[in-house]
Amino acid sequence: MNIAFIGLGNMGAPMARNLLKAGHSLNLFDLNKDILAELAAQGGHISASPREAAQGAELVITMLPAATHVRSVWLGEDGVLAGITEGVPAVDCSTIDPQTVRDVAAAAAKQGVHMADAPVSGGTGGAQAGTLTFMVGANKALFDTLHPVLSQMGRNIVHCGEVGTGQVAKICNNLVLGISMIAVSEAMALGAALGIDSQVLAGVINSSTGRCWSSEVYNPWPGIVETAPASRGYTGGFGAELMLKDLGLATEAARQAHQPVVLGAVAQQLYQAMSLRGEGGKDFSAIINGYRKPE
Ligand code: NAD
Repeated sequence: MNIAFIGLGNMGAPMARNLLKAGHSLNLFDLNKDILAELAAQGGHISASPREAAQGAELVITMLPAATHVRSVWLGEDGVLAGITEGVPAVDCSTIDPQTVRDVAAAAAKQGVHMADAPVSGGTGGAQAGTLTFMVGANKALFDTLHPVLSQMGRNIVHCGEVGTGQVAKICNNLVLGISMIAVSEAMALGAALGIDSQVLAGVINSSTGRCWSSEVYNPWPGIVETAPASRGYTGGFGAELMLKDLGLATEAARQAHQPVVLGAVAQQLYQAMSLRGEGGKDFSAIINGYRKPE
């Protein structure tokens, strides 16, 4: 299949590589010339703009940083909608607010183009291994059309509902995650300050009602879970800046829906303070450092 792939960063480049490996022909566009050259050497074709990439493509995929990039790549003068053929399926995999994707999809629909949102979880490791989870917002027919190609980049392809609901699923999950990591951090730090062995406390939480992914798989206290970023100086994993971005999307979407997200807003401020301390590049579980004396 001839696929346009736009946005070839930490996530998009390995996703595009998996599509090349699966035998697709790719029209590539990114502002970064180096990554274009690298992927062209692996068999992709370089396009001069999103419009040119979309021309003749049988599917368009975008993977961009934020809503402003998605709007300009899709709706700009040289954007995807200026080049795409009527009836061609399209999907944006960026993590952005649900309203932007609904606006862009409405503009696409006016041209007879059906567009889905399909944000991912699984990080750069999942993008490289082709094991991402895609949270897809699309009508059933479009979901069925996209499924085979998304399966070449991911393992779990979840149909969340109509366009925009993929983003809703993504930001609601990360709202839980951002808050639960803080709750576990408070409990682990309090326990240590009150004199219980951290390994014993983690064991009690993980066999009691406080058990959650943040305590069991990704415990923020160093040395509890060997494979967690806490046990390697909070490197790798999911950066605090990305968590801050996702909590910002959740609180802004909540504001638009007149819905309270009290703990989400507090969590956002705590990750904001972490960013201010210069720790935004660390894994988000380093939020626990705000509760511990420096070593
Ligand atoms: P990134 O910054 O590494 O890559 C973004 C790419 O988009 C860059 O190569 C940049 O040059 C390109 N770009 C920016 N503006 C452009 C434009 N106008 N035209 C063409 N290309 C343009 O970001 P990433 O880590 O690949 O993340 C992409 C999206 O996936 C984000 O929305 C992010 O929140 C989400 N996400 C990231 C992760 C992760 O672990 N990195 C995990 C899940 C979801």
